Amino acid sequence: MEVYTLENCIFCKIINGEIPSNKVYEDEKVLAFKDINPIAPVHILVIPKKHYESIIDIQDDEMDIVAHIHKTINKIADDMNFKEDGFRIINNCGENAGQEVKHIHYHIIAGKTLNWP
Ligand code: AMP
Ligand code: ZN
Repeated sequence: MEVYTLENCIFCKIINGEIPSNKVYEDEKVLAFKDINPIAPVHILVIPKKHYESIIDIQDDEMDIVAHIHKTINKIADDMNFKEDGFRIINNCGENAGQEVKHIHYHIIAGKTLNWP
């Protein structure tokens, strides 16, 4: 499995425009874009513009970014009209979770009934 560094990070390249993406929302701190391989009718990724490998790398004094990501998710759920039907937020962290891209990202999955677990 390829290991993404900051210099060779696919999501950093999406942020700086080197790789195209289907943007849903953007502000100075975060970017949201459609997952290239959707597992549901709605599958969006929300990422901070600053590179962190995972939640483990975010120090206590920078945790505001996580609240900002969640505020962004609420806004997208409202704007795209799936907040009433419900949705799922997934953050895969590390090897056992199968995290492939080593730039923290929150999946938003919506648009159908989701199986659990
Ligand atoms: P994870 O397994 O949590 O690391 O998920 C990584 C996600 O990134 C997968 O759902 C991929 O489909 C998605 N992905 C990888 N490359 C791209 C890309 N260039 N544009 C959009 N989504 C991508
Ligand atoms: Zn990155």
